[in-house]
Amino acid sequence: MRVDLYELLGVSRNASQEEIKRAYRRLARDCHPDHNPGSAEMEDRFKQVTMAYEILSDPSKRAQYDQFGTVRPGEGLGFDRFGSVADIFEFFFGGGFSGGPFTSSRRRPHDPAYAEGEDIVETVVFELKDVLEEQQVSLKVRRLEVCPKCQGSRTEPGTQPSRCQQCGGSGMVSSTRQTFLGVFATSAPCPICNGSGQVIESPCKSCHGTGVTARDRTVDVTIPAGIVDGTVMRLSAAGNAGTGGGRSGDMLIRVRVKPDKVFEVDGPDLLAKLPVTYPELVLGTEIAVEHLSGESLRVKVPRGTQPGDVITLRSKGLPRLSGGGSGDMHLQVELDIPRKLSKNEKQILMSLLELNGKKRLNTGKPRPLRKPQIT
Ligand SMILES: [Zn+2]
Ligand SMILES: [Zn+2]
Repeated sequence: MRVDLYELLGVSRNASQEEIKRAYRRLARDCHPDHNPGSAEMEDRFKQVTMAYEILSDPSKRAQYDQFGTVRPGEGLGFDRFGSVADIFEFFFGGGFSGGPFTSSRRRPHDPAYAEGEDIVETVVFELKDVLEEQQVSLKVRRLEVCPKCQGSRTEPGTQPSRCQQCGGSGMVSSTRQTFLGVFATSAPCPICNGSGQVIESPCKSCHGTGVTARDRTVDVTIPAGIVDGTVMRLSAAGNAGTGGGRSGDMLIRVRVKPDKVFEVDGPDLLAKLPVTYPELVLGTEIAVEHLSGESLRVKVPRGTQPGDVITLRSKGLPRLSGGGSGDMHLQVELDIPRKLSKNEKQILMSLLELNGKKRLNTGKPRPLRKPQIT
């Protein structure tokens, strides 16, 4: 059944936010379950009115409703987050309220010991060469696990928690309040049992009633080849155990890859400089280059190679984390100028200079630093 939210609140389609608020305030007071004990009809109406208000009071949800006649499921239909009438007061009359009207009364888990387990963060550090292959890592961690003796119940085996005397086991204590809107019954979690309705008189001796114990564990992890520095891997629920039904935390493994002395990393590619002497550049040569893996690579430097030219060795980079294959190795040629010369070398170079020098005087022309740009 499609209900018209404006009709529910008894306002027109172009009602202002103020009118909507006023209409809701009146209706909420009339149909609140605390005012109509035992009336399922009124409770139902109260839920509908609240839902209508929650949507129409939010400009974006209202716009969505106006356009589509609905809002996305799970959005705005937050009646279960709506506690007692005290929350309405908090909303309408309480000070310093920001955000959505019903965020303050989130439903609390029933068990007062409820807590989600914390994440464990571990860091592993690799050399760049380790990235070439898959790595097996054993991490020694100390983590909280569910107490094996009491299975997390926190009570000594063979004993039972007893019913809370204060609230008679209901977990709630109620009181009435006089306000200018009338008398309201409000209820709050019992301060003795924190709302659980139970009191543990014989806590588990093994975990001292916490439900968890610290354990030293070795966790084996496989780090895939090609892992990138800074990657955080998540092992779901391998962190500290939660309590009172709370979920376990995760184990986060942060991978650091140390910078290599020679190779720079650019995605899956490796970058380095390759010093080559003048005669080698002029005549062409083959140079042995040591890869990260220790493998010797034969690098062909073609005749007439210029300093700054880049020689690419296909698939000699790092493995790609996704999709297989490897990146490339790019070697930028650099002119290797010797600082010391033998007598013989010097003589050869002198005669070369004489030869070239004559040529340069005849043909040498300065060239611009950069290609001139026309703007
Ligand atoms: Zn225990
Ligand atoms: Zn109690």
